[in-house]
Amino acid sequence: MKIGFDFDGVWADTHVLKPIVAKKLFGVDIVGPFSRENVVGKYLTLEQYDETKHQVYYGNYPIEPIKDAPFYTTLLEQDEHELKVITSRSGSLLPVVHAMFAEHGLLIEAVGVGYKVSKIEACRGLDVFIDDDLDKLVPLIGMVPHLLLFSQPENRHEREPEAVTRVDSWYDVYQYIRYEI
Ligand SMILES: [Mg+2]
Repeated sequence: MKIGFDFDGVWADTHVLKPIVAKKLFGVDIVGPFSRENVVGKYLTLEQYDETKHQVYYGNYPIEPIKDAPFYTTLLEQDEHELKVITSRSGSLLPVVHAMFAEHGLLIEAVGVGYKVSKIEACRGLDVFIDDDLDKLVPLIGMVPHLLLFSQPENRHEREPEAVTRVDSWYDVYQYIRYEI
């Protein structure tokens, strides 16, 4: 099967860095998810919120993989699925993706579509796509047969449509692909 997945928030645990960077830059202790709704106006100005996110991606902070992501990605490769990363990262932000995969012995194609650019073209022909951003999944309904929303505190409050399945972990991802398709 052709399986595509997002990088930040699905394979790489970038979200965990956001409150840490906000604390470092602006001295705030954020309680709850680092979502615009929770953060802007309460802890940070919109400008500070954007600056925090910018620093997370461009600031060379060490990024760890999401729990079990390397293990289950390796298993999926061994099961002979075709894996591809489709990320909003592009240009100088892409090498981090390749470096993290290489560190875990993985050689996975990464397509960088660019910030705030639709993933529709890049996802054409996939059987499965996994993202933590519901806005990226909804336009793929009817095009990619299996759409998985990777749970993060930032998307917990969102109600996914019936065509989208919420998964809480890479274990769930693997179980779904192995037994439910
Ligand atoms: Mg993401």
